[in-house]
Amino acid sequence: MSQTAGRVIVRVPAKINLQLAVGPLRPDGFHELATVFCALDLCDVLTASPAGSLTLDVQGPEGAGLAADRNNLAWRAAELLAGHAGVPARVGLHIEKNIPVAAGLAGGSADAAAALLACDRLWGLHLPAPELAALAARLGSDVAFALLGGTAVGAGRGERLRPIEGAASFSWVLAAADGGLATPAVYAELDRQRGLGDDAPAPVVADPAATLAASGVAEAVTSGDPELLAGRLGNDLQPAALALAPYLADTLAAGQKCGALAGLVSGSGPTCAFLARDGEHARTLARALAGTGSCRQAFAVTGGTARPTVLG
Ligand code: ATP
Repeated sequence: MSQTAGRVIVRVPAKINLQLAVGPLRPDGFHELATVFCALDLCDVLTASPAGSLTLDVQGPEGAGLAADRNNLAWRAAELLAGHAGVPARVGLHIEKNIPVAAGLAGGSADAAAALLACDRLWGLHLPAPELAALAARLGSDVAFALLGGTAVGAGRGERLRPIEGAASFSWVLAAADGGLATPAVYAELDRQRGLGDDAPAPVVADPAATLAASGVAEAVTSGDPELLAGRLGNDLQPAALALAPYLADTLAAGQKCGALAGLVSGSGPTCAFLARDGEHARTLARALAGTGSCRQAFAVTGGTARPTVLG
């Protein structure tokens, strides 16, 4: 974060899930999750400036068509913080949108986290981190992780976090799709696949924490060995995302054919993430994948150690 002439600028990362184990539907309508979040060096940049009221504008390569009003999570984050702290929501927010929207990369959550951090600083609140994290959890399941970054285990809806100390960074290729997928629709499709109807008995679904522990993914991220990590990735939402966006099967097959160590749908999709041996392999893989025409865009990123940060 940096504060220049009354402005606060926050750079905040997208995420992928290295494992996403989805448990049963809870009475509150959310699913119990066990996941390993991994922050990427693909970032949105949010600037908060002094203003007479709350305003927002969105620009950047992925900003087209994104709401710049109360429907934007950054706006809601600023309102929530102001209400919580009992201060007027006077801030001009500007988002440079680099994270594809509705892509399974938690870009909206990233912007909400950025707005919390920036407004907290701009308004001189300096709330303790646990208080900001509690507000984050009210805004969305992935917002608390966006405040934290790095690599972390998420439980509950994903808001109960335990950082994985010593997690290595890994090289990835993201394959961005043309359209988006609505997260609630993907969870609804998962429930449908699991046979969960209004009159159907609740299906037996494995305890997500046990699934995550059995995968050994947390140990693989500290090993720094991409070959080991490749065999430990997983996403319970992938079959549902593939059912709603069948073209993703081609993207995943193309990534494997181009030499990825492993590939998976990121979160609720439709972005696919491919693990590479190192940065050079990722760049080669991205070029090869882009040449297949199986995705809108393919680009190399680094995952595991990115955090909300000060602009240089
Ligand atoms: P989720 O975090 O729910 O898994 P996602 O990562 O797939 O979502 P996001 O880019 O966060 O996708 O967008 C999810 C929805 O949130 C979209 O319908 C989008 O219009 C809305 N949204 C609100 N504010 C933002 C924002 N600042 N950036 C991106 N999407 C936003």
